[in-house]
Amino acid sequence: MATPGYPAAPHTAVDPTAGTAFRSAVDAVRAVEPRVADAIGAEIQDQRASLKLIASENYASPAVLLAMGNWFSDKYAEGTVGRRFYAGCRNVDTVEALAAEHARELFGAEHAYVQPHSGIDANLVAFWAVLSQRVESPALHRAGVRQVNDLTDEDWAELRRELGNQRLLGMSLDSGGHLTHGFRPNISGKMFDQRSYGTDPATGLVDYDALRATAREFRPLILVAGYSAYPRLVNFRLMREIADEVGATLMVDMAHFAGLVAGKVLTGDFDPVQHAQIVTTTTHKSLRGPRGGMVLCTSELAEHVDRGCPMVLGGPLSHVMAAKAVALAEARRPEFRAYAQQVVDNARALADGLLRRGATLVSGGTDNHLVLIDVSGYGLTGRQAEAALLDSGVVTNRNSVPNDPNGAWYTSGVRIGTPALTTRGLGTAEMDEIADLIDTALRGTAPATTAAGAPSKAQYVLDAQVRDAVAKRAADLLAGFPLYPGLDLA
Ligand SMILES: *Cc1c(COP(=O)(O)O)cnc(C)c1O
Repeated sequence: MATPGYPAAPHTAVDPTAGTAFRSAVDAVRAVEPRVADAIGAEIQDQRASLKLIASENYASPAVLLAMGNWFSDKYAEGTVGRRFYAGCRNVDTVEALAAEHARELFGAEHAYVQPHSGIDANLVAFWAVLSQRVESPALHRAGVRQVNDLTDEDWAELRRELGNQRLLGMSLDSGGHLTHGFRPNISGKMFDQRSYGTDPATGLVDYDALRATAREFRPLILVAGYSAYPRLVNFRLMREIADEVGATLMVDMAHFAGLVAGKVLTGDFDPVQHAQIVTTTTHKSLRGPRGGMVLCTSELAEHVDRGCPMVLGGPLSHVMAAKAVALAEARRPEFRAYAQQVVDNARALADGLLRRGATLVSGGTDNHLVLIDVSGYGLTGRQAEAALLDSGVVTNRNSVPNDPNGAWYTSGVRIGTPALTTRGLGTAEMDEIADLIDTALRGTAPATTAAGAPSKAQYVLDAQVRDAVAKRAADLLAGFPLYPGLDLA
């Protein structure tokens, strides 16, 4: 049963015409390489059969999917709308301008750049836009030249040193931050001198006082807010205040929660676009569009952001920009607000259901689309819990918890999110059933014992009866919420 007022799965419904289009497309593939066609067919079966609680995934509409499979894929379009390095871009201009217009209107942004191929790329564009605005432009001005090619070798060497010696303050990984926010394994960690802020161990909430103290001492060029595994709201007004106080540019990476901003669930202090100079996002997570990225910014940063390609990006994926325009048009409809609210209501219902059954949640609950279960309460590592849940038909991913004693590989947490299942039409009543499935499967799992007699961090024993019963209940639940109803590839 879906929550009253939230329609069951209209978003993935496939009408007969679109159904024919998908079938013909797969047939055309089959004629060349049948194994690819088989994999496509198997993928939709897998997606239909899995109870997908991965917080970063979703299901795009048939219109979004179909907008990607066409001749825009063949077109090179380096540059920006109306200013291309290639001839014949008028149709690409149409879709890129539309996507940018929808993005500006939807988010109330002064400028939108829709070319980034992914969230990582969007962050790179943003970092280099800020470096261009605040480091490169002043250096060119000082030298009295218009562009880098006009600098002397000495001035160029000095500018390169300066570009490579800037500071960035971002959220720590185990508090829910992202690798691209200045961590060493990512290029951002090699570009910037990075420090991080975290959450208060007592509350699990961002410690703004500690953050302010670190910012005052460290004086970063860029303060990054945004997360992939923080279950609460971030006060972006306060973040901007801190950034302004220390002369930093506030950048918000809303890759995970862009759909909640688009759907007006996050407003006021919690709407990043109102407070940050630059905002990056993916388009395929809670925003429910094609796999891709996007940058929103103030007009002062626009010319710097627009240099993304060829600065750090390859030629724009015009077919994906077409799909972004479709997805953003969908997100401007009133139904999307109902969807975003339902995502949050569902996450809260899931958290409440888990808490009632005795689970431990990081920060004690959720205010957004995701829940982080501390599975050490079940005597398991994140890796064991993730695997036992998968065996039972429940798809999640393991995740560190703050100060995780099991490190980033085994971890002590499991992250779950509601954007995908909400798109499928599941409501709060189903979330309570899912909480029971998770709790039942984890209670039925124990760590295996190593040869030395200690509990293993990877191996586990899952009661087969529990596994089969949970898997059956998960399948029964999904049967009531067909995914891409109307589509039959056979
Ligand atoms: C998912 C995510 C990204 C990366 O997105 P990709 O499209 O996979 O490159 C960047 N930042 C945050 C906060 C994310 O959650």
